[in-house]
Amino acid sequence: MTQIKEVLQKLEAFAPSTYQEKYDNAGLIVGDVSKEVMGVLISLDTTEDVVKEAIKKKCNLIISHHPIVFSGLKKITGANYVERVIILAIKNNIAIYAMHTNLDSMAHGVNKMIADKLGLINTKILAPKKNQLLKLVVFVPSDHVEVVRTSLFKGGAGNIGNYAECSFNSEGTGTYRANENANPFKGKIGQTHFENEIKIEVIIPKYLRNEIVSEMLNVHPYEEVAYDLIPIENEVATIGSGMIGELVEPMSEKDFLKHLKNKMKTSCIRHTNLLNKVVKKVAFNGGAGSFLLQKAIAVKADFFITGDVKYHEFFDAENQLVLADIGHYESEQFTIELIGGFLIENFSKFAVRFTEVNTNPINYY
Ligand SMILES: [Zn+2]
Repeated sequence: MTQIKEVLQKLEAFAPSTYQEKYDNAGLIVGDVSKEVMGVLISLDTTEDVVKEAIKKKCNLIISHHPIVFSGLKKITGANYVERVIILAIKNNIAIYAMHTNLDSMAHGVNKMIADKLGLINTKILAPKKNQLLKLVVFVPSDHVEVVRTSLFKGGAGNIGNYAECSFNSEGTGTYRANENANPFKGKIGQTHFENEIKIEVIIPKYLRNEIVSEMLNVHPYEEVAYDLIPIENEVATIGSGMIGELVEPMSEKDFLKHLKNKMKTSCIRHTNLLNKVVKKVAFNGGAGSFLLQKAIAVKADFFITGDVKYHEFFDAENQLVLADIGHYESEQFTIELIGGFLIENFSKFAVRFTEVNTNPINYY
């Protein structure tokens, strides 16, 4: 049997909740994670119809992109749809888990699905996140360097962009004098010992610091390990908001709009004036992405595609690019495929179902 928590652990590795924005409420919202997974239903929103569908399809775990609860609930009386969803889920032993801005932030997340649907290559994060990394420096006797370095890499240290196992290793001499209560790995009590050591430097994601350090201490031979954890400001190229990519074959703006409408299955695109330019560089952000418009202009994108663009925000494009609003739901609809595909690849003991409810609250007449 597979417990709900085992599924959530995998999803946490896929899109760590720690990468969600401050206003967000991604993660487990309702449910007992020790229960066995009977089936999983994937949706963009957890509406009442989606919970009813989960009951019908015998799924006791709903994974949604948007969290059903955003801010604190003081009463749960069923007065609005959010409260009714919570009541219905709890009554039917259904857990609800949301992967929201954390999944938006991953290079393999919501925006990668858009890139793939539009056939874009050379994709990069538009606004990489800062302050997500630490530098770990540890001093290891040279005959143990391999085991310590391997443990660091295994725990998730040393990943930079498309490179794994990145480290810097420099040789030097460490000294120590053990007192009578010590049990030194090498050297004698009361005598100054000189040891040939390697200083290993690696980058680690902040959120993995406890696991990586505790495993490093486990395999390190010293009683007292000398190590430093240093905050660094570097951007992380693989984590952040929005994305930019290139069309394999540049096309006219009209052809691109047609392509966009067709691939993103949208019935309506609201856009600024066409500029009679050839479209090659395309920036985009699933959901509400107006906040990235200036970034898209700065990297000289020909188009910026997102949802939820307000009237006055269209003016801000200033004929620097074509700003296109394809709809919030439409821009994120393939996120369901992304989450479902990941689960199917990683689990085989329960059914992964995709919602048949269209949760888009907006209709076009
Ligand atoms: Zn959204």
